[in-house]
Amino acid sequence: MKIGIIGAGQLGRMLALSGYPLGLRFVFLDQSEDAPGAQVGRIIKGAFDDPRALAELAANVDVVTFDVENVPVDAVRDIAAKKPFLPPPSALGGSQDRLDEKTLFRRLKIPTPEFAAVDSQDDLIRAVEKIGLPGVLKTRRLGYDGRGQYFLRTRDDIEIAWTTLGSVPLIYEGFVDFSREVSIIGVRSTKGEIACYPLSANTHSQGILRYSIAPYRSATLQRQAETYLKRLMKHFDYAGILTIEFFVKRGQLIANEMAPRVHNSGHWTIEGAATSQFENHVRAILGLPLGSTQPIGHSAMVNFIGTIPTAAAVLKIPGVHYHSYGKEPRPNRKLGHCTVVAASASARDKSLRQLLKVRDSK
Ligand code: AMP
Repeated sequence: MKIGIIGAGQLGRMLALSGYPLGLRFVFLDQSEDAPGAQVGRIIKGAFDDPRALAELAANVDVVTFDVENVPVDAVRDIAAKKPFLPPPSALGGSQDRLDEKTLFRRLKIPTPEFAAVDSQDDLIRAVEKIGLPGVLKTRRLGYDGRGQYFLRTRDDIEIAWTTLGSVPLIYEGFVDFSREVSIIGVRSTKGEIACYPLSANTHSQGILRYSIAPYRSATLQRQAETYLKRLMKHFDYAGILTIEFFVKRGQLIANEMAPRVHNSGHWTIEGAATSQFENHVRAILGLPLGSTQPIGHSAMVNFIGTIPTAAAVLKIPGVHYHSYGKEPRPNRKLGHCTVVAASASARDKSLRQLLKVRDSK
């Protein structure tokens, strides 16, 4: 069997690496011929909405999936009519627009921050009056890793926020004074089988995930997160990995966003769970039995952004696994990650502290 992946970033590369032991082959579509996926599969060069490249990809594989969210849904509808395209285009489309996403959360009774559509400076003034300050103005589309966001603290910020972002459709959200950010990652196969990983606690800075700790144990939050995730899966008749990122405020989950793909906060599952999110995604879209999502210890995952230490510098820390994506260093670019797996939370935290020290020593 051959799987086509739209996008040959690190997520696509890790999907392929997890699928080779299952006897699978991979072909990518990407604009860049030296994207991380090139190390593990052939790349068909083209834009994500290039009909010729998409048709070539589809003609060469049995199933098509994606490792990025900004794949234009209209461009892939043709493929989806002819070849299994999973997760379904409806979920892909649903995650691309923050307004649609939050409207869906609200409709499915998944708590989400207060929000309002903003298409003019007057809309923004009204949204601030209704929802209050502080708040976050975000682009509706193509925002990720904190890009396309403006935090408003006072009314004086309205004008600058509008000038900075106002050329595209926007959403204004109430600021959530959260105690923690967590994510749930689950998987549903084409046969309807579902499995969920334990929650991961995520630390962001400047909108970018810096490190995650898993499992984050809270029986109540786990149950709640799984209920919301399954609701979304059912809504989309989903197949593949699905992620929801939440804020935790006063013991309640508030959904920030969903991702219809393998997720950075699930990288720990490669070494820290019985079956990785990558392998389970592949199994799910092929209708294979899912693997156990049980953790096999206490894990932490640290992202390397902009710079990456050498393997030699980190592998001396107990329980550390090193992943370099083979990318050219650039500011704010995710270049690799490390996962620590330990028998106890305290051993994990000790190795994590050492790892963060190496990351920050430059
Ligand atoms: P996003 O691009 O929506 O995932 O946002 C990136 C990060 O910005 C989140 O992980 C939070 O740390 C922060 N953030 C986004 N929206 C809000 C909000 N409504 N209230 C508080 N923090 C937020």
